[in-house]
Amino acid sequence: MTEAYDRDNVFAKILRGEIPNATVYEDDHVLAFSDINPQRPVHSLVIPKGAYRDLTDFAENASEAEIVAYVRALAKVARAGDVTETGYRVISNTGADGHQEVPHLHFHIIGGAPAGPMARRMDVDADG
Ligand code: AMP
Repeated sequence: MTEAYDRDNVFAKILRGEIPNATVYEDDHVLAFSDINPQRPVHSLVIPKGAYRDLTDFAENASEAEIVAYVRALAKVARAGDVTETGYRVISNTGADGHQEVPHLHFHIIGGAPAGPMARRMDVDADG
């Protein structure tokens, strides 16, 4: 069964203006803001304004206008962070095994320093 969207998740509250955020980019379909716990000098979160739980929900249900705006915004946010030339990592944790903590679709854009290996090996990271 597909899980319902949780309207009380922290990013829904940010979108409603109930919690402040450090906005780095915004348009009709997308909001991007600094991660509250940055993992590198540049760490932005890019979220659709629509109520989508994760990448699967968004890819299956968002309109083409929302999808185009979202993908274009990823590059705009990288440019805003001045990491386009030096490089950056894009991550979207999805569901339980993906270790998704906030159930509103978000892509992390992380840069400004080397990101390191992509993921720890399963056999040394079995506990998450
Ligand atoms: P994930 O594990 O992919 O769901 O990551 C959720 C991210 O949201 C984490 O990197 C948190 O630091 C970040 N986060 C949680 N609350 C806030 C907030 N109020 N403002 C900005 N970032 C947040």
